[in-house]
Amino acid sequence: MGDDMSYKLEEYSIINITSYRLLEINTGEYWYPLSLFIRKVLFRNINIAQYRDNDIYNKHMRVIEYDNPDSASDTKTKAWFMNTEGIYILLQNTKINNTGSAREKLAKEKYLAAAQSFFGVVNNNPQDYIGYQPDLSNYDVWSIMCLTRDTTINNNTIWKKCNNCGFYYPYNKKYFNEASGYLANKCKQCTGSDFVCENKRLQYLHNNNGLDLIYQLYLNDKDKIIEELKKWLSEGGI
Ligand SMILES: [Zn+2]
Repeated sequence: MGDDMSYKLEEYSIINITSYRLLEINTGEYWYPLSLFIRKVLFRNINIAQYRDNDIYNKHMRVIEYDNPDSASDTKTKAWFMNTEGIYILLQNTKINNTGSAREKLAKEKYLAAAQSFFGVVNNNPQDYIGYQPDLSNYDVWSIMCLTRDTTINNNTIWKKCNNCGFYYPYNKKYFNEASGYLANKCKQCTGSDFVCENKRLQYLHNNNGLDLIYQLYLNDKDKIIEELKKWLSEGGI
């Protein structure tokens, strides 16, 4: 029984961690080796029983016998697997605990955010890192201009909440200052420097008192843009 199901082993990556999953040929469903996933991607040790005995999870779990790529022996390995839906729920419910050093906590949060991004999980718990682009509508105009023109932002981008303004920015040197090997907890705007826009014209305007013009460009009202452009030029903009 159960041997009529066949699986194909596939590799996948979350940031720089490569792991594997099984593709169930007949259904197209993915199955993830549960303890490996939690250990490798979420950096925790788990007790499988905690999930197996939980009605939320156990309907998404299955014991599968398979050729374990991590095992040196030829014999098959039996392990608990969880399908994509189960992993989704698990990532929705995962909270970072406060044990360990600040550095460990940071790594856990970052990988949780990356895993949430990989599985398309939007987490409603307030958290320091997220793995998806936040709603930008409440951001200041210069942030929107920089973020929407930043060609390095993609699905793997980790966004960190600024400790000061509370807005999320991509967690890299463009948006957070670097201090002694770490990135700061406050965004650049909150520490007195500005983000740099990839669009050279916008950056030029920003450097030369063109904030009002940038605002009109953002609102995209042609007449107002021309009006503001004339004003900027008359004030010696170029
Ligand atoms: Zn800030």
